[in-house]
Amino acid sequence: STPSGTAKVIVLTGASSGIGEATARHLARLGHHLFIGARRLDRLTALQDELRAEGCHVEVMQLDVTRLEDLQGIASQTHATHGRIDVLINNAGVMPLSPLAALKIDEWNRMLDVNVRGVLHGIAAALPIMQAQGHGHIINIASIGAYQVWPSSAVYCASKFAVRAISDGLRQETDAIRVTLVSPGVVESELADHITDETARAAMREFRRIALPPQAVAQAIAYAIAQPDGVDVNELIVRPTASP
Ligand code: NDP
Repeated sequence: STPSGTAKVIVLTGASSGIGEATARHLARLGHHLFIGARRLDRLTALQDELRAEGCHVEVMQLDVTRLEDLQGIASQTHATHGRIDVLINNAGVMPLSPLAALKIDEWNRMLDVNVRGVLHGIAAALPIMQAQGHGHIINIASIGAYQVWPSSAVYCASKFAVRAISDGLRQETDAIRVTLVSPGVVESELADHITDETARAAMREFRRIALPPQAVAQAIAYAIAQPDGVDVNELIVRPTASP
């Protein structure tokens, strides 16, 4: 595990299930100090109890990434507790897939609000703190859908293309801050549970037959964090071996 001298202060969104939960476990067990958020506080506190029992350092905060003030809240709370934020991981996301012709406009807006505005809110909350301290690392979770589009996934992919564009722009604009885009292929999680469109649900069931454990993405994130200062892993694409 990381010696305390290199333990990082890490803010992580979407830690109540899937990739975020696995990432919280993995990074906390490496000795980092975590501040984790999501809407389901019961899930977060259960995870906190489990990790604290192992001697890990985990704080929780209920938050909705569509609310800028919630991200500002976790950032200022983390800064007040530890005096710095070394890493922000914008992981929270939703994926209610459907064909455009189904006109699920509320779900389109939800994806843009959570997946795009949520990431921007995280950046807005952490960037001033990181710039003032002269270092930082922002890790955004995109998807292979940031590079490729499939039927029923136009808006989801648009949201992830946007995360990729925002990440690359942020990287070029900030000399002292590392920016990493992590793009997983299919991962076992609750992400597809909220698909309401029957066609998209059936397609996703097929697609998900080959999936990564969320721990694989956690390890990719940990790899980017573990690089020496001045080394910025720009992008990581992580797919199951058997994916096309
Ligand atoms: P899950 O559905 O298991 O986890 C999503 C997390 O996001 C939950 O913790 C959820 O918490 C949180 N979340 C959703 N909406 C909000 C919100 N408004 N405010 C705060 N938190 C929110 O899915 P994954 O773990 O798979 O997804 C994590 C990320 O990985 C997403 O960005 C997703 O797009 C991306 N991804 C996933 C892939 C996959 O195949 N699973 C592939 C590629 C990328 P709560 O509901 O408690 O708020």
